[in-house]
Amino acid sequence: MRNIIIKNAKEIVTSTGFSKKAGEEMKNIGVIEDGSIIITDGIIEKVGKTKEILKDFDTEGYEVVDASGKSVLPGFVDSHTHFIFGGYREEEFNLRLQGATYMEIMKSGGGISGTVKATRDATKDELFELGKKRLDSMMEFGVTTVEGKSGYGLETDTEIKQLEVMVDLDKKHPVDIVRTYMGAHDIPVEYKGRTDEFIDYLIEDGLLKVKEKNLAEFCDIFTEENVFSIEQSRKLLSKARDMGFKLKMHADEIVQLGGAELAAELGVLSADHLLQASDKGLLAMRDSGVIATLLPGTAFSLKEDYARARYIIDNGGAVALATDYNPGSCYTNSIPLLIALGTIYMSMSIEEVITALTINGAAAVDREDTIGSIDVGKLGDIIILDAPSYKFLSYNIAVNLVKTVIKKGQIVFDKN
Ligand SMILES: [Zn+2]
Repeated sequence: MRNIIIKNAKEIVTSTGFSKKAGEEMKNIGVIEDGSIIITDGIIEKVGKTKEILKDFDTEGYEVVDASGKSVLPGFVDSHTHFIFGGYREEEFNLRLQGATYMEIMKSGGGISGTVKATRDATKDELFELGKKRLDSMMEFGVTTVEGKSGYGLETDTEIKQLEVMVDLDKKHPVDIVRTYMGAHDIPVEYKGRTDEFIDYLIEDGLLKVKEKNLAEFCDIFTEENVFSIEQSRKLLSKARDMGFKLKMHADEIVQLGGAELAAELGVLSADHLLQASDKGLLAMRDSGVIATLLPGTAFSLKEDYARARYIIDNGGAVALATDYNPGSCYTNSIPLLIALGTIYMSMSIEEVITALTINGAAAVDREDTIGSIDVGKLGDIIILDAPSYKFLSYNIAVNLVKTVIKKGQIVFDKN
């Protein structure tokens, strides 16, 4: 049954809207006090004050959830993750915290190459089981839609294996998955010193096969010094767009390379990381309507400075927040940690953080028409907090307050 009524909520944070919010608008989260929601066949049919919504409504055939004293929000959208991978890198992480050099880490078998080997070696069943557990964990944090990238094969067969695992998981797990092809995550040893040839290979082999099998909606690239240059990124992304892919970029994370400027030039949907992005680049992104997806968990994990959320928002830009869940630079899918970092270290208000995790996260995966807010006609993706106000999300630092998760009108997680 996908008919459900959530009634008597102390407050409903609707994040109302059908497009991304930028600048000042990010504060508007549309709170309704003493609210109720009616979901019919998995779709939100009504939302508003309890008295008005439930007046004369025949509740037969509906499961009724009493949300008295609780805060209700749209499900979170984690719009940037690398959650399908083999192997772990706990040695590397702990060595790095102890000050190990890059070379020492490489010698210990660390770095992305360790993940690439383990992912190439893993079977589809193994990746499926790992992915399922990870999706369960995301769901408990209130995530109802997640973006997942390939990028640990660096050769087409493994990239396709990662994407096919996500297709299976999407069918069998309540959390919806948006798939991104990221063959351009790094340069494999087989192509060392031949990056241009690798880009050609990605265009002629990777993009083509992924498109043929319709395995990904987005194409992404790690634009960075000593990885993919601006010129190489422009070439791959332009080609991907011609082939019908939507575009994302990892831009200006470590070095100010002009990734933000390229994102604006190409009009990609979102450019992510942006720790080193220039003022000019960020303003150009704003003017082109590119969403800045910021990943503070990674900055925290790597002890880097945070991306300039305040600068972007104060200048009228749109920010989304995501976990960047991956086995190397950020092995956490914790939404409560993300909220803490956004509010405490990036000086975002809790309202802006909620927008960044709901409607703007949805927009960053091109789903703002159907998810990311509690509006009539959208999917019934809802979370109920064990707290009377959304303000506890920042106040109760890094604690998971999610009590109930509803996906398309069905309770898929409930903590007693
Ligand atoms: Zn990433």
